[in-house]
Amino acid sequence: LGQSNCIFCRVAAGDIEAKLVREDEDTVAFRDMNPQAPTHVLIIPRRHIPAVSALSAEDADIVGKLFLAAKDVAREAGVEAGGYRLVMNNGADAGQSVDHIHLHVLGGRHLGWPPG
Ligand code: 5GP
Ligand code: ZN
Repeated sequence: LGQSNCIFCRVAAGDIEAKLVREDEDTVAFRDMNPQAPTHVLIIPRRHIPAVSALSAEDADIVGKLFLAAKDVAREAGVEAGGYRLVMNNGADAGQSVDHIHLHVLGGRHLGWPPG
């Protein structure tokens, strides 16, 4: 379950401090330490999955749960009416910097498109 060399496994285990906003059996949501919008929350599976490119069919359920958690986080953060963006970076060109999948929930300001 938890890999001691993975920072997000350590957040999920409570070994690294984070501002949790929501958790359940399968997922943990916490504030990004370097927020890019007034609301910037990361949602992770408790299970270590390195990247979207490493997903297997058995992970379909957990990926769905990340989106269900995101919907609740957005509503509770008050950004549902204004709108919000869900992002999952995969690999170097996308800027993935932590090798444990995480869904970004960004909201509270207008977000430009296309992304940088
Ligand atoms: P990525 O660039 O991989 O899509 O996103 C990684 C995100 O994790 C970044 O936005 C970064 O600010 C955030 N982050 C990295 N380490 C930590 C940490 O230890 N705690 C928290 N709360 N956020 C982190
Ligand atoms: Zn991990």
